[in-house]
Amino acid sequence: MTTASVAVIGGGVIGASVAYHLAARGWRDVVVLDRGLGPGEGSTGRATGGFRAQYATPVNVRLSLLAREKLCRFEAETGVDPGYSRAGYLWIAADEFELAALREGQRVQHAEGLSEAVELDPADVARLNPALAEGGIAGGVFCPTDGFIRPLRMLEGYLAAGARLGVRTEWGTEATGFALRRDGTISAVLTSRGPVGVAAVVNAAGAWAALPAEWAGVGLPVTPLRRQAAATVPCGRLPEGMPMTIFAADGFHLRVRDGRVLLLRPTPGREGRPFDVSVDSAWVREVTDIARARVPLLRDVEIDPAACWAGLYEMSPDKHAILGPAPGCPNLFLVNGSSGHGVMHAPALGHLLAEIMSDGTAGSLDVTPLRPTRFLEGDPNPVPGLL
Ligand SMILES: Cc1cc2nc3c(=O)[nH]c(=O)nc-3n(C[C@H](O)[C@H](O)[C@H](O)COP(=O)(O)OP(=O)(O)OC[C@H]3O[C@@H](n4cnc5c(N)ncnc54)[C@H](O)[C@@H]3O)c2cc1C
Repeated sequence: MTTASVAVIGGGVIGASVAYHLAARGWRDVVVLDRGLGPGEGSTGRATGGFRAQYATPVNVRLSLLAREKLCRFEAETGVDPGYSRAGYLWIAADEFELAALREGQRVQHAEGLSEAVELDPADVARLNPALAEGGIAGGVFCPTDGFIRPLRMLEGYLAAGARLGVRTEWGTEATGFALRRDGTISAVLTSRGPVGVAAVVNAAGAWAALPAEWAGVGLPVTPLRRQAAATVPCGRLPEGMPMTIFAADGFHLRVRDGRVLLLRPTPGREGRPFDVSVDSAWVREVTDIARARVPLLRDVEIDPAACWAGLYEMSPDKHAILGPAPGCPNLFLVNGSSGHGVMHAPALGHLLAEIMSDGTAGSLDVTPLRPTRFLEGDPNPVPGLL
């Protein structure tokens, strides 16, 4: 049987970040197991690459601020440019009710130190994104240090930096179960290539994370949620530096990436097929109509069906990450349920979990609101509304 000090299940951006941060703190013999044949086969390869600190709860703002700090030195740390560009996130309110909710979020952000986030009147909104149709806009909020990142480059950076510190990544290796000791702790991870004896296990299995937790008898409330993205043909119609533009009313948002305009709008997912990642052509028509109505410059721009895609969010019940030792299995560590914010928060989550596993507590940030026991205690975070 091969052995490892820590086996990380999942080599997406979060698992890679955890493995790197453990190795950087001196852990040796860390192995990442991923059933994909190479990097990016999970949600990380399907993310659009937004980064924001405009959240409605203190802990999410703080996670973003820590992540941002780490993004600024990512290249020095890993040797790879994470593509962090400060294009900003522009949230648009259609009425006073929405504006009040955005303003309330901004109050939390300011209290956490995000002083550059500002409220906008309709004229400011038009200045920041002149492509928007006139009318129906009561105002908005904007943070100039929000913007974009390159998910696959971040993954590449953490994998490369981890490898230099001795992390082994085994692609094409599916974790299929655990061997448990009498006290309920994990002695080995069973895989498609044989068992790996371990001192500790990290569950970084993204939208699929509930199953590995179940092998240890841990109920992990993480469920997949399909997220679809429509892409126009390359058109150069909107500037690459346009802020991520989000309509608070229905969550419709758009950005420009590599010359294409990406259009997104949340949907409930496919009934009875939670892991389905097919693209629904009726949804593409719907989101295209919305885009053309709200951004007149897109009226004659075609969608490229081959460039549209879907992937999975890893939802937790309160839409906040779940971070720390699993209740009832002290050598299983959870870093799950980022609820669609996992790429932007990966630098922070990896850093914090390495602190927890090394020191027993996260020194950089109070992560009590993310503790895995909060659901059992009946003390979840408030579910974010618009932000
Ligand atoms: C359309 C879309 C847009 C998004 N946009 C953004 C965005 O703008 N910003 C942002 O921050 N986030 C965004 N996200 C969310 C983001 O992609 C995820 O939060 C993030 O990738 C989670 O990282 P992860 O490492 O946990 O998961 P993943 O990248 O999914 O990695 C999990 C890995 O676990 C492996 N695995 C699972 N089970 C097993 C097993 N039993 N054995 C071995 N391996 C296993 C999988 O193969 C996978 O590689 C978006 C997601 C989608 C779908």
